[in-house]
Amino acid sequence: MFGYMGKILEVDLSSQSIKDIPLNEKDLKPFVGGSGLACKIMLDRLGTAIGGIDPLSPENLLIFMTGPLTGTRVPNSGRFEVCAKSPLTNIWGEANCGGRFGPYLKFAGYDGIVIRGKAEKPVYLDVDNGSARLDDADHLWGKGTYETQEILKKDLGDKRMSVTVIGPVGEKLAPISCVMSDRGRAAGRCGMGAVMGSKNLKAIVARGAQKVEVENKEALLEVVEEASERMDEEVSTDMFSSLGTSGYMETAEAYGDSPVKYYTESTFEELEDIAGTKMNETVFKKAYGCYGCRISCGRVIETEDLGETEGPEYETLVALGSLCLNGDIDSIYKANHLCNDAGIDTISIGSTIAFAMYLRDKGVISREDTDGVDLTWGNSEAIVEMVEKTARREGFGDIISEGSRAMGKKYGKEEWTATVKGLEIPMHDSRGYFALASGYATNNRGAVHVPEQLYQIEMGSPIEEYDIISEDRFVDEGKGIIAAKAQDYFGLFDAATICAFTWIRPTHLAPIFNYVTGFDYDIDSLLVTGERIFNTKRIFNNLCGIGKKDDCLPDIVLHPIEEGGTEGNVPDVEKQLKEYYEYRNWDWESGKPKKEKLKDLGLEKYASLIW
Ligand code: SF4
Repeated sequence: MFGYMGKILEVDLSSQSIKDIPLNEKDLKPFVGGSGLACKIMLDRLGTAIGGIDPLSPENLLIFMTGPLTGTRVPNSGRFEVCAKSPLTNIWGEANCGGRFGPYLKFAGYDGIVIRGKAEKPVYLDVDNGSARLDDADHLWGKGTYETQEILKKDLGDKRMSVTVIGPVGEKLAPISCVMSDRGRAAGRCGMGAVMGSKNLKAIVARGAQKVEVENKEALLEVVEEASERMDEEVSTDMFSSLGTSGYMETAEAYGDSPVKYYTESTFEELEDIAGTKMNETVFKKAYGCYGCRISCGRVIETEDLGETEGPEYETLVALGSLCLNGDIDSIYKANHLCNDAGIDTISIGSTIAFAMYLRDKGVISREDTDGVDLTWGNSEAIVEMVEKTARREGFGDIISEGSRAMGKKYGKEEWTATVKGLEIPMHDSRGYFALASGYATNNRGAVHVPEQLYQIEMGSPIEEYDIISEDRFVDEGKGIIAAKAQDYFGLFDAATICAFTWIRPTHLAPIFNYVTGFDYDIDSLLVTGERIFNTKRIFNNLCGIGKKDDCLPDIVLHPIEEGGTEGNVPDVEKQLKEYYEYRNWDWESGKPKKEKLKDLGLEKYASLIW
């Protein structure tokens, strides 16, 4: 079995049983690995029960999964996926993470870990070169993610290891909590930290020295070289290498992609003060990358207050910056560090704090509601204080920790939230790039940006092989199909698992898959594989009650903004969805994939679950 280690670790925390399960070879070519295989496993194990499962109950499955490319010589293949039913959205949840944990899990001899049940008291899982055991984590419970990682590394004394961990917020089951790895790398979205916390699982250690065998090493290296040269031609490769993702801020504002003042504006006069260039000129220490990365978009910074720590990404700078009208970059460094240590998704918390400011602005909440903290636009001290309160789930911080939708419900303004299916919209505005509209409305997690790369496509990076080409970012025609194809293609990256910033084209990805696994994908079957995976997750969501009614954008992002890069444009979501549904062959009334589509994709056995 090339590209795979051939087994999954199955852990039942209730009974403390651990066993090896062989990978089902029949599932590999159609579902690849990563979140594709994880969703297949969940559907097979849970079936129609999925809809009724409480995400924070022992019955929910928590799956850590790598893919065939993880830990190989393919560039940027140091990723892994964390999947579960999400406590934030109550539908399919997944979060992708960089660092080194994915490769180390394979070096430890496993393709993935399936976790169910709940430990009686805090434990951590030590996966060590072909075997695994549970150890007491009482001494780690309550500690931040940085300290927990340091303690485990020191105690286990193994240089070749990686740790993935939750912080106090995940322990306290906050729906906006994340899973952290290799210091500042986050599996950020969908509340995966709370699922881990609900199982009393503080951390997972992966260590080992096993090799990932590939089918044809020489041919693989040759095509990797070609793909890398092509990748280097992308503008984003150079931008992310030299400035990190924060290097995109000025461009984002020029295109109207970067939301300001809770999606009500698109220009921010203090942008220069929080941009990547500012970070580079002042506190930048060094760049760092995930395993095997040739871009190294990570930034290590050093400030008087924090010492050496990870610098904020583009998403964080906008979510805790311009979205809140906050031009104080030091407060963003601090809030980012606090979020990483507590294990909080910076997109969700930034957006939820901005929503609270919006509610205050509209007179829905007052200073008393926010524990006396003056949560008004641009108040950087209040933002940091709210992050601290959220980390402790204390007072108004407890309300923030539930996410925007829950806050909206509490104050009778759910329809005002910038969420899709309960997930906070990331820092890319569909009024600047129309394809994001149907992309956000239909993504299986709710609104997410990385897996579809639609903003890059709208900026002029086409995928010619699939005719994914946008000639005008402000037209709706064709965007439904572009969104669907991009979801299918880039969904493969989360199955493979490689970083979406890699921009490997299908012409290179098909042979890369083949030289690693020995399978026989071509460009067309690659896209069908992505389509199968996307529809599998849609079935999961249909079982959770998701239908056409949920494929929409919130009102707040559908108002024209005359000033700035969106130029007063607003996408027509329904128009795009008509095209999207037709392309996908989904039923317009119910939002389910039609039976014949499921049959075409080899998913007919799941048709009876939803029809
Ligand atoms: S580009 Fe950035 S996120 Fe992607 S693998 Fe490299 S360092 Fe990690």
